[in-house]
Amino acid sequence: MMTERFIITAEWTFLEGRFQKGIALLVSGGRIEGVLDRSDARFLGRYLPFLEYSGEYMLLPAFVDAHCHLHAYGIDLYRPSLEGFSSLRDVLEYIRNFVSEREKKLYVFVDFDQSRWKEGRLPSRAELDRVAPNRPVILRRVCGHVAVGNSRALELLPEGVDGVDRDTGVMVEDVPLNLERYFPPDEREIEEGILRGQREYMKLGVASVHEFGSPRTFRIYRKLEREGKLNLRVYHSFYRRYLGALAEAGLSTGFGSIHLRIGGIKAFADGSVGARTAAFFEPYEGTDASGILLLNSEEIEELVRGAENAGFQVIIHAIGDRAIEEVLEGFRKALSTGNPLRHRIEHFEFPLERSIGAARELEIYLSVQPNFVARWGREGGMYENFLGEKRWRRNNPFRTLCESGLKVAFGSDSMPPSPFLGLSGAMRHPVESERLEAERAISLYTEGGALFSFEEDIKGKLSEGYLADLLILKGRPDSDPGDLKVIDLYIGGKKAEGEGIGEA
Ligand SMILES: [Zn+2]
Repeated sequence: MMTERFIITAEWTFLEGRFQKGIALLVSGGRIEGVLDRSDARFLGRYLPFLEYSGEYMLLPAFVDAHCHLHAYGIDLYRPSLEGFSSLRDVLEYIRNFVSEREKKLYVFVDFDQSRWKEGRLPSRAELDRVAPNRPVILRRVCGHVAVGNSRALELLPEGVDGVDRDTGVMVEDVPLNLERYFPPDEREIEEGILRGQREYMKLGVASVHEFGSPRTFRIYRKLEREGKLNLRVYHSFYRRYLGALAEAGLSTGFGSIHLRIGGIKAFADGSVGARTAAFFEPYEGTDASGILLLNSEEIEELVRGAENAGFQVIIHAIGDRAIEEVLEGFRKALSTGNPLRHRIEHFEFPLERSIGAARELEIYLSVQPNFVARWGREGGMYENFLGEKRWRRNNPFRTLCESGLKVAFGSDSMPPSPFLGLSGAMRHPVESERLEAERAISLYTEGGALFSFEEDIKGKLSEGYLADLLILKGRPDSDPGDLKVIDLYIGGKKAEGEGIGEA
């Protein structure tokens, strides 16, 4: 158990945006009381506990993941994954066995990716009925925007739900994205999901997350906080349909504690590239479809005005160039005096040059996912296959965004949660001129998210008065991000212990 006041030091400290030697931190009451010269620290260390990580260790602010789905990710960890299958035939066989061996109310299989299967196509309702005739079964694609259900699962859906083809069993957008709403997990599942997700994030050196949910998930977070079980710091945003109720209760962005705060209002302007539902001006390669625009600029304008009246940040998912343009147009109509509520666009993956200019002019905050580049942004990868030779290279222009003076934060979207994968995506962008150096990438994964939740004065940096959310990594400033190891994580000066944390 950590004592209240201590000194901590490592070979390198990430201070003021770069790695420095000879630094120590004085930690007291969960905050950084002072940034010291190591020699002064040694003197003080005669009177205080002195934690020295000697050898190749680095001390950084703990990561802030500016976009994740913590509870959903945690629930998914208990769900059978279809990642790694290379044929639909094997997948169907796996489902047949799984369902016959375990008694459940509903089976949700996650993370399938038909582009990696020999057959290269989605399964059908009929095929699922053949292997699982008696219980509801749903397969959700890795992107979260597409799912396929068997007949029993489709029976549970009310009539008239958008994006559901009852013949093929394919569901796009609304249902897969809001699976929890249509097929609600019980409270215990959510609670277990949060605790499991929290553990996994802490293992990766993350102390703060921007999470998305409903009043119900918020209530469960609140319960865990009261019980002293919420160790992470959670900025909890709500889906759009809850704006009215939240505003009615007088709640707004920023309300809460240093462990659980009310975030913004989240809406979707399009889908994903992997599901070919992200909205572009030009069609996807080899098709005449160019995605689905879910909100137009008038709807966005209305949303922004309503949220502004209630004091809420607006957080809009937009991936394709067309969706991004539409969202910016909506912001332009709604905003007249800058962007004090720090409204954000999430993903902003394929902006046109003019959109980057517009985002800057409107001072829109951009929450981006560098791990997407690592996963899909390689030569011959999914972006190239789906979007074609010219367009795919426009993906995630991180350096251009930063150098345009835009506010940028890194997050994972929990696909998967590792900040190290994200750092390496940013540092090895397929377009060399869009690569970021390690220091800048780390800043976007720490200070970045803190700024987006209005917490730049208390977290994301190692400075006097800041929360002692500290991360010790084994490695050197020039190490490959994939080789870095999480040694210890301190949240509010308290060392995280237990399962898998700090086992190097
Ligand atoms: Zn997301």
